[in-house]
Amino acid sequence: MSKALFPTEKLLMGPGPCNVSARVRGAMAMPLLGHMDKEFISIMDDCKVMLREVYDTKNEVTFPVSGTGSAGMDFLMVNFVEPGTRVLVAVNGVFGGRIANVSEKIGGTVKRVDFEWGTPATLEAMTAAAAEFEPHIICVVNGETSTGVYQDFGGFGDLARKYDALLLADCVTSLAGMPVHLDAWGVDLAYSGTQKCLACPPGLSPVTVSARALERYAKRKAPVPSFYLDLNEIIKYVGSGSAARAYHHTAPISMVYALHQALAEVLEEGLEARWKRHKDAATHLIASLKKFGFEPLVAEKSRLNPLITLRLPEGFDEAGIRAKLLSDYKIEVGSGLGPLAGKIWRIGLMGNNANRNTIAALLGALDEVIG
Ligand SMILES: *Cc1c(COP(=O)(O)O)cnc(C)c1O
Repeated sequence: MSKALFPTEKLLMGPGPCNVSARVRGAMAMPLLGHMDKEFISIMDDCKVMLREVYDTKNEVTFPVSGTGSAGMDFLMVNFVEPGTRVLVAVNGVFGGRIANVSEKIGGTVKRVDFEWGTPATLEAMTAAAAEFEPHIICVVNGETSTGVYQDFGGFGDLARKYDALLLADCVTSLAGMPVHLDAWGVDLAYSGTQKCLACPPGLSPVTVSARALERYAKRKAPVPSFYLDLNEIIKYVGSGSAARAYHHTAPISMVYALHQALAEVLEEGLEARWKRHKDAATHLIASLKKFGFEPLVAEKSRLNPLITLRLPEGFDEAGIRAKLLSDYKIEVGSGLGPLAGKIWRIGLMGNNANRNTIAALLGALDEVIG
């Protein structure tokens, strides 16, 4: 017996995915094209141009990797880390920890610099660690979704250049929600995900690679230990300059349609306006939830506006209330991870959800449940 599937529409105010516009959903229903079809290649090329604008980079190699944000992380690691590569990683949450793990799996020599969860990495500590370790790559998370910290990149570009190291940024939750200026920051390698502030379903990981990083890549000694994620092969399909395109793997056609539409919507709104909308929503959310006893975990200057972390009120039944919000009000909020489990909520205000209506819905529900 077959059963038609139509899930309940819910308000996704967790750490991603977030709700996406009807236009993005519609884009996914467009007729399929072959991945070598000129019409499709041109849609992919448009995505590359729009991604450069969103990342604020001139990098020729900027395209969506097939897979979610973690695939972009894996892609950069398998291509830019080989046995013996010294990888310096700032760890102030789950995702810095994941970068360190992935680099180790690939055979990199990893040095973690740990920071208290809920605080940013400091240039001082990274500078001291770099002096001792002489890294080939320095990795920093721009928006730590496990703790709600936005990382200022000031000084990291110069630090990387001092050691002739590449600088890698995890921009999964910052991209299109908070300022990202890759070229000005001196970032060589970055990845993101579609389901956070780009307001698109999960399934693609926009990545970018600087010319400096490509020079380093050309000097690799070991072969890339992956077929699917090998930059040398993928580039033959996604294209560079006027070279002919060759099949490598089938592009996820409908996802690329969705990304195209989502990027067009981001640029239609304008990046500055979009950052401001996320900031206004974050400020409003924090002020509105104060009356229940929620206190922000992160100092204002390091706040990741699309993902607000709040310490819970005294004696708060966090799992019970979270379950009730989901079952009775169809509102999803996120719980804490690792050392912050049971101590915080993570409330997503990503993409189109960064507005007063979503906050009013959450407030109304909380008024009824705990008010
Ligand atoms: C969500 C996220 C990832 C992982 O992305 P997936 O799409 O879950 O694979 C990596 N880094 C950060 C900062 C994230 O928020």
